[in-house]
Amino acid sequence: MATQAYFDWNATAPLRPQAKAAVTAALETTGNPSSVHASGRAARRLVEDARDKVAALVGATRREVVFTSGGTEANALALSPALGDSLLASAIEHPSVRSGGRFAAVEDVPVTAAGVVDLLALENLLKGRTRPLVSLMLANNETGVIQPVAEAAALVHAAGGLLHIDAVQGPGRIACDFKALGADLMTLSAHKIGGPQGVGALIVRDGLTLDALIRGGGQERSARAGTENVAGIAGFGAAAEAVRQEFAAETARMAGLRDELEAGIKAVAAKAIIFGAESPRLPNTTLFSVPGMKAETAVIAFDLEGVAVSSGAACSSGKVAPSHVLAAMGVVPELAGGAIRVSLGYATTSECVGIILKAWAKLAKGLYKAGKHQEIAA
Ligand code: PLP
Repeated sequence: MATQAYFDWNATAPLRPQAKAAVTAALETTGNPSSVHASGRAARRLVEDARDKVAALVGATRREVVFTSGGTEANALALSPALGDSLLASAIEHPSVRSGGRFAAVEDVPVTAAGVVDLLALENLLKGRTRPLVSLMLANNETGVIQPVAEAAALVHAAGGLLHIDAVQGPGRIACDFKALGADLMTLSAHKIGGPQGVGALIVRDGLTLDALIRGGGQERSARAGTENVAGIAGFGAAAEAVRQEFAAETARMAGLRDELEAGIKAVAAKAIIFGAESPRLPNTTLFSVPGMKAETAVIAFDLEGVAVSSGAACSSGKVAPSHVLAAMGVVPELAGGAIRVSLGYATTSECVGIILKAWAKLAKGLYKAGKHQEIAA
């Protein structure tokens, strides 16, 4: 069955119509942005116009935007020993941060059971360091829990260090002001906001010099060599502009639908656990589980009903590993193994929520039949 209700926006958001139009128009433009002739200048205008729009989305200046091939590359570009003597990152970061970039090792900053980075632990870990680089996410991609990055920035700066924020899941969902967050570096990804896949940006505070990951021509003021992905960047710019314009209305609407969804999950299974529910969360993300449910099976059951969700478990080389995020929060494997992530976006409607809740009722019925009544019902 084709997908009727798409609930995997934290994995990738459908392309916004404005982004699609910008990509198409850019693909019809011939010219290398570095060429001096009129065609080159037309391509350059597309890139620079998008730079302005991405900068405006996060309250940065155009000089602070370095386009990359996505969030993963932006994280790798930021995490360089040129910017710090040691790397500290929270235990719930995306694998592209957990892998440490160009650092040989990453030290974990723990999170609380509520999925929030432990600021006291961070303060202690910073003691005695001369030039630490700290990487924290603005909001977690699995739980949606918002992290206290502005408070962390104050601690990191007091310790003489720099703060990198992976803000990939933030724009369009919560306020994402580069200056207000106090970050030195900030990662963005186009496809999480309705732009195309394979393009992103690293926002770099004015005055900070990056250690380029890809060297060659002097593109992106020598921070990232290679002919720019003009169409991708143009699409990113268009998506950024749409997000900025629609932010207030979209977040309020998503929060309403999310609440409707969570009430519906609990109506069928009163004992369902919503991870991070006691913390400030993105208005579009619900990660839930019931004991005894298997996430892999549940994802397939939802898919058969035309509903796209994802599991909180990472699957690599054929083995399903429990989510490192839930493990860091101290969630027992029995519960973590059933975690289902439902994420919403600008095109999610109340009708979509109705479809997923119908599928959930069917799935829960199966669990009741399998004798799980005690685990699920009140
Ligand atoms: N950081 C976070 C928090 C993410 O959720 C993702 C994507 O899943 C990334 C980084 C990687 O971004 P990209 O897919 O653009 O490489």
